[in-house]
Amino acid sequence: MNSILIIYTGGTIGMVRDENTNALKAFDFDSLISEIPEIKKLKCKIEATSFDEPIDSSNMQPNNWLNIAQIIYDNYEKHDGFVVLHGSDTMAYTASALSFHLENLEKPVILTGSQLPIGEVRTDAKENLLTAIEIAAAQKNGKAIVPEVAIYFEYDLYRGNRATKSDAEDFEAFTSPNYPVLAEAGVSLKFKKNNIYQPNGKKLKLNQFSNNHIATIKLYPGITEEVIFSIINIPGLKAIVLETFGAGNASTQLWFINLLIEAINKDIIILNISQCEGGSVDQGKYETSSAFNKIGVVGGKDMTYEAAVTKLMYLLGTDLSTAEIKEWLQKPLRGEITE
Ligand code: ASP
Repeated sequence: MNSILIIYTGGTIGMVRDENTNALKAFDFDSLISEIPEIKKLKCKIEATSFDEPIDSSNMQPNNWLNIAQIIYDNYEKHDGFVVLHGSDTMAYTASALSFHLENLEKPVILTGSQLPIGEVRTDAKENLLTAIEIAAAQKNGKAIVPEVAIYFEYDLYRGNRATKSDAEDFEAFTSPNYPVLAEAGVSLKFKKNNIYQPNGKKLKLNQFSNNHIATIKLYPGITEEVIFSIINIPGLKAIVLETFGAGNASTQLWFINLLIEAINKDIIILNISQCEGGSVDQGKYETSSAFNKIGVVGGKDMTYEAAVTKLMYLLGTDLSTAEIKEWLQKPLRGEITE
């Protein structure tokens, strides 16, 4: 029997309504599991561990990501797969971060949660949890079928660092605009072998990182010089995610380009990510992005915002030079970007 470790961090899946305020708040893991008697019917051995205080994922911080990664690392030999129960709000950030924390992963790490608490009649939690466990336990010839960090939600399995939460209400809360699904759950589980990461046979390594000296500038028509000036002058700032229009385009106003040059001269990395969910940044395709190549803005191609943020935090936490970080930002480390 395969052995699965469930790591309960919080999220709607395990919440109850406060009698006085009607707001949703987290409850403990045992109460959660008692709502799913079906779990005993699964053909695998299940162990569980929980955050001391389960949290709404909007409270997730980089130290919580490291905590989850550390639990997986410490229990890696004992289990065949891992299921992380997590709120959907920041699940894509955690999944991306875990993919960078856990280098050379050969076992499944499947994140899931739900839009409705497990105790509610129309809950999506049961199916999400039971199928996530089945995926984490799935093997072929003694090897995990999904040896990577993935998100399972409402019948689809997504690569974790390619997924994004795109709907606040729909059961189908996630999309993966630039990478196909890894599996679909219908009557049977259909794995898409060609889309799934192939392990490199090296030993698992836990990367510890926590450099969050970054900022985001989401461009909009009319953004002022004061806004950009203030951000590039934040003390200790190491990188900016510049959320641009379309295929990576922005205003050609001189003050704007000059401020970006000023930032780059201060060794601040500027990573260009599109505000569009689908498609890729292509600097130089339009005149409105050709200055970026000349001044050293890094094109983030088709990375999600979540992958961009966590990849920057990871790379800034290494001893790589700025030039090396800029190079890696444009190449896949864990399948988060299309080459
Ligand atoms: N606010 C909740 C959370 O992210 C929403 C959810 O679980 O889906 O923890």
